[in-house]
Amino acid sequence: MSRSILSLLFPPKCPVCRSRTKKEEVLCVKCLSEYQKEKYRPCRRCGKKSCRCTCRPTVSTPDAFGYLSVFHYDEKSPGGRLILKLKDREDQRIAAFLARDMAKSLQNGCILRSDALVTFVPRNPSAVLKQGTDQARALSQALADFCSLEQAACLKNKGSKSQKTLSAKERLENARSCYTLLKNCPDLTGRQVVLVDDIVTGGATLTVCAELLKSRGASTVICLTAGRR
Ligand SMILES: [Zn+2]
Ligand SMILES: [Zn+2]
Repeated sequence: MSRSILSLLFPPKCPVCRSRTKKEEVLCVKCLSEYQKEKYRPCRRCGKKSCRCTCRPTVSTPDAFGYLSVFHYDEKSPGGRLILKLKDREDQRIAAFLARDMAKSLQNGCILRSDALVTFVPRNPSAVLKQGTDQARALSQALADFCSLEQAACLKNKGSKSQKTLSAKERLENARSCYTLLKNCPDLTGRQVVLVDDIVTGGATLTVCAELLKSRGASTVICLTAGRR
């Protein structure tokens, strides 16, 4: 069936509010404008737009060159809702939409090498089994496709516990017990690595994963997320 007939039968809908959108647009006009607001919302620390902010999270490491993201994360805002959708179901359009903006933040925040490797913070395997998708993996693949970079899995999640009730120090210890390098992790010697996750909150997870990638030889690790809390 041709695409035009398909779009007549199943008109594209905004994934956030379900109102109808034009074929080439992901978000409707209203949700897009709210999404842009969160993207341009000034960071409370540096005053720069969220998509240009390079502030380090509470827990950070010199092993990570930078922490870049696109928008201020709020579960109810369009950006937050898109991430929740991606956790439920792998949706190429949503992943590509967010990855395009992540690529912009990345290109603004560092000098990206053409041989950089894109990898991701793997989701808890039991959540992947239950909900069927790993949103950070989907984002990292879409980003790699968009920037014509190589993408590979490097890290393993041994089963993470919720970080919500833990202190910063406990979060770091918890993350250390959760993540390890995959047995078949590629050799990263001298490579620039872009580490992708959906959201950064305290920074413990990204910190531990960046340290692991460094230990495998990465010359620079750039942490890149869609949302920043
Ligand atoms: Zn909408
Ligand atoms: Zn900032």
